[in-house]
Amino acid sequence: MTTKARKDDDYYSILNCNRSATYEELKQSYQELIRKYHPDKSGGSQEDFLSIDKAWKTLRSVDSRAKYDRYLDSETDYENSHLVHVELSKSQISFNHDNTTNYPCRCGGTFVIHKEYLDEEECLIECNDCSNYLLLK
Ligand SMILES: [Zn+2]
Repeated sequence: MTTKARKDDDYYSILNCNRSATYEELKQSYQELIRKYHPDKSGGSQEDFLSIDKAWKTLRSVDSRAKYDRYLDSETDYENSHLVHVELSKSQISFNHDNTTNYPCRCGGTFVIHKEYLDEEECLIECNDCSNYLLLK
């Protein structure tokens, strides 16, 4: 459940672009890369080809790009702890018979905490309604 930023292999980096790149820039870069890494070419690589293709398929659509941006933002913000609005100590929790317990989020949603999360030293739990996190430690 712990979220770690993996900025090195985010879709923008794969396409040699930054996050402010326009659709045309992304597309041009994608086309260059796909030619370069095409598995039929010498020096090509199936693995690179597939990840380039996946990156492009995510970023070419406004909707899925926006979704992906939000995902990146949530990871970045986690590092700055902006999205962690609740910190809960393990000792504060008591579990129900099914070994879960609910903790309310300020949005009206719920953090569902499972007993096995306590095995982790720290655990991030995302609200089931919004993008806030509860940090369990
Ligand atoms: Zn929430």
